[in-house]
Amino acid sequence: YFNSETIVFLDGQFVKATAATCSAYAQTLHYGYSVFEGIRSYATPAGTHVFKAKEHYERLHYSCKAVGLPLAYSVEALTELTYQLLEENNLQDAYIRPLVYAAAPNMSLTEARESSLLLAAWEWGKYLGDKTLRLMVSPYERPNPKAVPIEAKVAGHYVNSIIASSDAKAKGYDEALLLDMNGFVAEGPGANFFYEKDGELFTAPPGSILRGITRNTILTLAREAGITVHERFFTPDTLREADAAFMTGTAAEVIGVQSVDEYVFPKPYEQSLGAFLAGRYTELVTGKLTPAL
Ligand code: PMP
Repeated sequence: YFNSETIVFLDGQFVKATAATCSAYAQTLHYGYSVFEGIRSYATPAGTHVFKAKEHYERLHYSCKAVGLPLAYSVEALTELTYQLLEENNLQDAYIRPLVYAAAPNMSLTEARESSLLLAAWEWGKYLGDKTLRLMVSPYERPNPKAVPIEAKVAGHYVNSIIASSDAKAKGYDEALLLDMNGFVAEGPGANFFYEKDGELFTAPPGSILRGITRNTILTLAREAGITVHERFFTPDTLREADAAFMTGTAAEVIGVQSVDEYVFPKPYEQSLGAFLAGRYTELVTGKLTPAL
C-alpha cells in the first residue's frame, strides 16, 4: 500500500505515509469508531478520472452524520484533494481510501468533537481477482440494521466482514455470502450480489446492505440495455433456480460467481448478463462508453 516515497493527505497537509501515525489511545482504535470510503480512479482519454467522486464523498458525509463524526471538508474539497493526492503519487489507475477517524486519546463512549481525515491511494488489482467465485452462505448474518446504521460505511461493521470472509476461506470457498436477520440474501463482505434468471436480474433491496455505488451503476447500465432488474428479497433457496450470478463493488468491480454452496450456476459466466455488464462497466469507468451515462 505504501513505500518510503508514498504521500498521503492527513489533517490539512500532504505528508509522507511513513510519518502518518496514530495514538495508541485514539478512540477509533479501541472502538472501531471511524468511517471510510473506497474509490477508484481510472486513466481515460480525457485524463485521470475519479469515478463517481461525488457519490462516494456524499456517502462519506452520510456515514459521518450517522455516527456523529464531524467532517470539515465539502464534497468538492474532498474531490479536489483526491486529484491532488493522485498527482502527488503519480497515480492514474488507483484505489483511493478516505478515512475519517477519532484520533484524540479518548476512552469514553461519546461522539467525537473533532475528527481526522486521511486520504491514501495505491495501485490495486481487482479485489476479488478475475476468476469466478465459489461462494458459501455464511453462518454469520449481516449486522442488524436496528443495531447499527448499516448503510453507513463504518469501520467497526467490517469485523463482521472479516470473520465471515475468513470463515468461508477456511472452509475452502472464495468468499462469503451473508444473509440478513430475516434469512434473506443480503450481500458479500465487501460487495453486492446479483443473480440472473430468465434474462432478468435480481438483487437485494436496501435495508440490510450497503447501497453500493457500483450496484447503482450496474442497475443503470442494465436498464439502459433494456434488461429488467428487480430489487427484492430472496432466500438462498431461490438461487437454486438461478442461471448465473455476479458481485459488484468499487474494489471488486464486476466479478462472476460460479457457485453458491454446492449449487453450480448452469450458465457459463462469459455468456451471462454479468459478463456483459462487466464489459459495459469497464467501458464506462475508462471513459470509452458512448454515449456516456
Ligand atoms: N457492500 C459492502 C459491505 C461493501 O463493503 C462494499 C464496498 N464498499 C459494497 C457493498 C459495494 O459498494 P460500492 O459499490 O459502493 O463500492
